[in-house]
Amino acid sequence: MSRKKFIAGNWKMNTTLTEAVELAKGVVETVGKQADVDVAVCPPYTNLSAVYDVIKDSNVKLGAQDVHWEAKGAYTGKVSCAMLKSAGVTYVIIGHSEQRQYFAETDETVNKKTKAVLAAGLMPIICVGETLDERKNGKMNTVIETQVKGAFAGLSVEDALKCTIAYEPVWAIGTGETATPQQANEAHIFIRNVLVGIFNKQTAEEIRIQYGGSMKPDNAKSLLQQSDVDGGLIGGASLKAADFKGIVLPQ
Ligand code: PEP
Repeated sequence: MSRKKFIAGNWKMNTTLTEAVELAKGVVETVGKQADVDVAVCPPYTNLSAVYDVIKDSNVKLGAQDVHWEAKGAYTGKVSCAMLKSAGVTYVIIGHSEQRQYFAETDETVNKKTKAVLAAGLMPIICVGETLDERKNGKMNTVIETQVKGAFAGLSVEDALKCTIAYEPVWAIGTGETATPQQANEAHIFIRNVLVGIFNKQTAEEIRIQYGGSMKPDNAKSLLQQSDVDGGLIGGASLKAADFKGIVLPQ
C-alpha cells in the first residue's frame, strides 16, 4: 500500500498577521507546486483567512490548531467547525499534547472534536504520544492504544479514512530530542495494529500516520524513509520556509 506523504506545519502561538502572510508566501514559493506530497500550514486562528488568501491558488492547504465541538453559542473564546470552514480550512489538529497538558484536553474531548470535524466535512489530524515517564515506565503502548481507541470511538470506516494520526512522543516536542527512525517506525506499526483491531487491515493500511517531534531538514529523510512514517507534523522547523521546504523535499 503506498500512502502519499503528508507534511503539515503547526505554527503554534507564533506569527502576527504580517509575519504569517510573509511565511505563507515563502511556503508557496518553495513548495506550493508540490503534487507528490500533501502540504498544509496551520497558523493561529487570527491569521487563517489572510494565509488562505496567500495559499489558495497553490497546492498548500490550510489547517487549524484546534476547534470546539459545539456548533455555536455561549462558548467564549472558542471557534466552531463552520467558522474554520468559512475561513478556508481543510485540516484540524486535534489533541495536541500541549492541549492535553495545558488546556485539559482528554480522550473524550478529542473524540467529540473528531466527530464534529468530520461532520463538518473537515479532516482531523489526531495527535497521540507518550511522555518520557510513560515510556520509561513501560506504559507507552497502553497510553498510545488508549488515545487511539478514544479518538476513533464510534467512527465509521468511511470517516476513519479521512483522519490522519500524528504520533508525537511528548519528550521529543520542541526539545531537540528526536525519536530515532526505528523508534518512530515501531510506534507507527503499533498504532497501525491498533487500527487493525478497531477497523480492519485495509483501513489501517490506508490511514496516514505522521511523525512529530523535532523533525528538521537534517533528520527528515531518515524518518520519512521508514515503512510506516507517512509524513510529519512540524512545529519549530515550520516557522522558516527554507527549513519547512527541507522537510517537504528532504535531501
Ligand atoms: C509539534 O508541536 O507538533 C511539534 C512536532 O513540534 P516540534 O517540531 O517543534 O518538536
